[in-house]
Amino acid sequence: MSYFLLDEFKNSTPYQPGEMPNDRDYLKLNANESSYPPSPRVLDAMTAAEVNSVTHYCDPHYISLRKAIGSIYDIGCENVFVGNGADEVLSFAMMAFFRRGMKVCFPDITYDFYRAYAVTYGLDYKQFPLREDYTIDVNDYVNTDRDVILANPNNPTGQALSVSDIERIVAANPKRMVLIDEAYVDYGIESCVPLTAKYSNLIVVQTFSKSRNMPGARIGFAIASSDIIDDMERVKFSFNPFNLSTLAIAGGTAAALDKEYTALCVGKIKYTREWFEDELEKLGFHVYRTETNFVFFQPKGIGAVELTAKLKEKGILVRYYDEKRLDTFVRITIGTETEMERVLVTIRQILGLSNAA
Ligand SMILES: *Cc1c(COP(=O)(O)O)cnc(C)c1O
Repeated sequence: MSYFLLDEFKNSTPYQPGEMPNDRDYLKLNANESSYPPSPRVLDAMTAAEVNSVTHYCDPHYISLRKAIGSIYDIGCENVFVGNGADEVLSFAMMAFFRRGMKVCFPDITYDFYRAYAVTYGLDYKQFPLREDYTIDVNDYVNTDRDVILANPNNPTGQALSVSDIERIVAANPKRMVLIDEAYVDYGIESCVPLTAKYSNLIVVQTFSKSRNMPGARIGFAIASSDIIDDMERVKFSFNPFNLSTLAIAGGTAAALDKEYTALCVGKIKYTREWFEDELEKLGFHVYRTETNFVFFQPKGIGAVELTAKLKEKGILVRYYDEKRLDTFVRITIGTETEMERVLVTIRQILGLSNAA
């Protein structure tokens, strides 16, 4: 660490992504990435764009991409903000609306970036504990005067709140900002986007990293009232106007318009997840059923650490959290059906069960 680094970073723990070892080929199911390729239209769009467009700066308002995203929810581009991944979109929202020392809250068990950003922006953050069953207690967030950040469904638990619960939180105090991170919304729960037409203290954040199979392209977006979106654009133009590459804009626009392909991939993942959850339950594992592209469970007959380590020995990466209340759990991303069959066979081997049906 240099002499110059600010104290708040010296003393903080940065966000830690799922490991990416390269000592061998792994089946990587530890970061909720997709085993399916992006829409074939993305490849077409990116190839053409690569040749023609990187010689110039793009339109920094990203109108084509914002319109394409708007078409998903039947809203205009004035209600859509685009950033370099949902992470950056969240960061812009916090930069625009959360002053140093301001009070925010989020769950004790959630996407760890909220804590990391709270440190970056010097916020006074409070983490409400999840209930015993790993769900969020809505009343904590209805009754607080703090700004709210929630992942819905939550990660890594996969548990979700209803739109009416979110509306209670948003409606409780119009002077308080509520950020809802819907990274996994396309896998089955109802989106809060329609609430943004009614409440101007709500920002819904989504991403192309999960249901559109494009985490490497770095595209995320926010949907909110046009005032909020204008504010975020203003901050973007005060920080990094060209925060997306020409290629990402072209590919993202194509992906947003290919709704059939997104639905196809989501459908496959949901089907595989339900089957895989059933199979884990047959092994006696305690499964917290989700509406996401991952499973979250407590193994039985083997500890979570050992299961994670043994799967890694056999070339399969899954996510284990060495943290209080989470250290008995394993999170596994849902890949293709063939990949998940391999995971199941491997788990059965590790448990010493025969693989005969
Ligand atoms: C994966 C994930 C993101 C990351 O989105 P990017 O667009 O890749 O930055 C954001 N929030 C949650 C809850 C996630 O699980």
